[in-house]
Formats: sequence, structure tokens, C-alpha cells
Amino acid sequence: MRKRILVVVVTGRGAIGLLLATSVLLLLVLATGRTMPALAPLYPAMVGKVITVDPGHGGIDPGSHDSEGILEKDIVLEIARDVCHLLARARAVPILTRHGDWEMSPLWPEEKTRHRQDLAARIHIAHRTNSDVFVSIHVNKIGSKSTSGAIVFYSKNKPESKRLATCIQQAMKDVAPFRGRSVLEGDYYVLNAANIPAVIVEVGFISSPEEKELLLTPSHRGRLADAIFRGLLSFFEGL
Ligand SMILES: [Zn+2]
Repeated sequence: MRKRILVVVVTGRGAIGLLLATSVLLLLVLATGRTMPALAPLYPAMVGKVITVDPGHGGIDPGSHDSEGILEKDIVLEIARDVCHLLARARAVPILTRHGDWEMSPLWPEEKTRHRQDLAARIHIAHRTNSDVFVSIHVNKIGSKSTSGAIVFYSKNKPESKRLATCIQQAMKDVAPFRGRSVLEGDYYVLNAANIPAVIVEVGFISSPEEKELLLTPSHRGRLADAIFRGLLSFFEGL
């Protein structure tokens, strides 16, 4: 690769000042043996936080789907990857439970059914990595075409999970003008089994034609990922 050299010519008093400042900096570096200090983190509350990001389903389990071959497992993987990029940039430690299109069940054969093995493996990853929180991302589907919007689930009697759900839901409110946004108690295995704050984020309904259109748009998925990131930030900032 060709290197570019920037040459700045300063004359008069400016040159003397610049020379002095550079000399002082050089002396400091030589005296302390240190290099230039690192930039301060943009989001101090996020630094070092271990966050398991779980794109639901995968492999033989497509999750919600429609007649056009739109699959929940593909949409949520894209969003989860985006969330991880944002977390890494904020110097958090994202743990993505699956990086591609596969089921998780082979990782945790102790459970009786394939479905339970799949879910247990995801929580196992969060626990083994000492994650601070667990966020599972999903897409919803019901019979009605008019229901839309994000829903964040948390487990009963887990106040920190409820706080995390509320923070994420609050951030999701700005993403798109859909109805039905709420925070709900949910009796789900991954939420009950987690010993850390855990939520399921249902980012929208593919049964709503308008929302499905948006969920297939990379820019909208990026906004959803950003909202999940901002919700996590609020949670760790204690807002
Ligand atoms: Zn799902």
C-alpha cells in the first residue's frame, strides 16, 4: 500500500508555538515511556459489558415464515449481526450465539427434545461467557394483517429483566410508526432459565404486509439494531 505523507508548513509565531508544543509532547513521551493516550470511550457504561445476542431459530427451524419464502431466521440474523457491530464499536463484548444458518441443538444434547436442546444451548452460551445480559431477537406472526409493532418480553419476578425490556422498548418506539408496541411478561424457557437479565425482542410482524416490507429493508433492520443498542445503553447507564 502507498503511504501518504502530510506536510504542513507553518510560518512565524505559529511555527515556534508548534515546535514548542511538539517538543514538550516528545519530552513527556520520553520521560514517561508512554505513547499517546487512547481516546475516551463514547459510551463508558458499555465498555467491557458482555452481551449475548441471540438470533432466534436457524437451520431446520425457520421460525415464522410466509408463502413467499420469507424466513424469520434470516431476518433476525441480519439484525443480530448489526447489533453486534454496534456493541463492538462501543467496546462492549458481543457474543453472537449463531453466526450462520444452523440450529443450536447439537451443542446441548442433555435435554430431551430437539427444540429444548436448541433453546438450552443459547442460554448455556450466555452463562458460560459470564454475559451481563441475554437478548434474543425474533420476528412475530399472527392471523391478523393489521397487528404490527415490536413487543419485548421478560420473565415474571425478574425486575432487572423487566427494566431491560422497558429500556429496549422505549428505544424501539422511535423506529417506525406502528401500533402494538409494548412490554409484556412472557413464560418462555430462555427467559425463565436465564440467571441474568434476559429479554426476547419481537421486532415486528411479518403477517403485517407493511411491516414485512420494512423488515426486508436493510436500512430498517439497521434502525431496529440501533434501537436495541440504544436500549442496552440506557440499561447499563441505569436510566
Ligand atoms: Zn421466533
